[in-house]
Amino acid sequence: MSVLVRGGSGRLCAAARRVIPCLWSGKCLSSGREPAENQVTPMLRHLVYKIKATGPITVAEYMKEVLTNPAKGYYVHRDMLGEKGDFITSPEISQIFGELLGIWFISEWMATGKNAAFQLVELGPGKGTLAGDILRVFSQLGSVLKNCDISIHMVEVSEKLSEIQALTLTEEKIPLERNAGSSVYMKGVTKSGIPISWYRDLHDVPKGYSFYLAHEFFDVLPVHKFQKTPQGWREVFIDIDPQVSDKLRFVLAPCVTPAEVFIQRDEIRDHVEVCPEAGVIIQELSQRIALTGGAALIADYGHDGTKTDTFRGFCGHKLHDVLTAPGTADLTADVDFSYLRRMAEGQVASLGPIKQQTFLKNMGIDVRLKRLHGRSHPMNTCQSKPSVSPVAGFGELAWR
Ligand code: SAH
Repeated sequence: MSVLVRGGSGRLCAAARRVIPCLWSGKCLSSGREPAENQVTPMLRHLVYKIKATGPITVAEYMKEVLTNPAKGYYVHRDMLGEKGDFITSPEISQIFGELLGIWFISEWMATGKNAAFQLVELGPGKGTLAGDILRVFSQLGSVLKNCDISIHMVEVSEKLSEIQALTLTEEKIPLERNAGSSVYMKGVTKSGIPISWYRDLHDVPKGYSFYLAHEFFDVLPVHKFQKTPQGWREVFIDIDPQVSDKLRFVLAPCVTPAEVFIQRDEIRDHVEVCPEAGVIIQELSQRIALTGGAALIADYGHDGTKTDTFRGFCGHKLHDVLTAPGTADLTADVDFSYLRRMAEGQVASLGPIKQQTFLKNMGIDVRLKRLHGRSHPMNTCQSKPSVSPVAGFGELAWR
């Protein structure tokens, strides 16, 4: 379940996820799960004031406020990842995921002519665990990379998580340089001596031959939601429930809204989610790759333009009503890989989506697992089968 874009011959992959059905009644939409308690969080208070002042807000505006509002956003001040948090991701479960991605980056670097330098750019790095596993592989394969000038670039909006990333990845004896007012808000050196920098926006990352990585990043970007009605497409908004104080509800816009331009003319679904911010980021990635070379690997829960209502919340590893106690739960919507591919078109080639399981199998996860358990073939007894795909992970491994 990931996407990759690359100048010349890029590729991508994706996978499936559960969907919570939405019940539409008249002009209202409910998640089908009534909130256990109507907790009035600071975020709910903020949203209620906002809606009272300017009217109902789009689902995209709601997601953006709830997740990344600089003062109260869910991602900004907390560590939500892991067993004690709200959700867990592959790198937090096993080191093998990051190790195989590390090998993938090196393999792409070799296949594209061993550039004298490369940047590894990660979007939404969480606790920095994935980057740590990748960097360990870079160190282990130091003899291969010895003449390559590597730098690490983290795109992260969360102050709290950037601090955790720095703790995970940097050499504590070398003090971090902090500058909250600058577009590069933190700089340091990794445990293996590689320069590492933090930015809030991809725009601020220096241009240059780069490998981009986004794992469970695109699914938290804000989506607009649309419902097909007898009058045509109508956008879903969030309003205050007139019956219950401090409760939010879904409503349908009474007329066409500007975001409707994002719906494909030949759309056959009756409910659609569109993430324009993801489109902007993919266009930026594609332009960068077309200009300076490299590749992007995008791994996420997603579909290929087939799913409908996938907007949901997670709190304490359980599904959570998206409109209840905003700011206390993660909000997510499955990534539409067909949309990402359209946004990359004409600039770079793209591969996939394929299931993450298939990608990892093609990358030799079974071999790595056996090795970790101390009983098997060394990694160097295998090679990729060039006739299937010139890009590692997108074709089966062949045994010599
Ligand atoms: N990749 C990590 C974490 C996924 S959670 C893992 O797989 O474990 C989503 C990450 O994206 C968090 O680090 C969050 O702070 C960051 N994030 C969310 N919205 C963002 C935005 N608009 N720009 C940059 N980072 C963002």
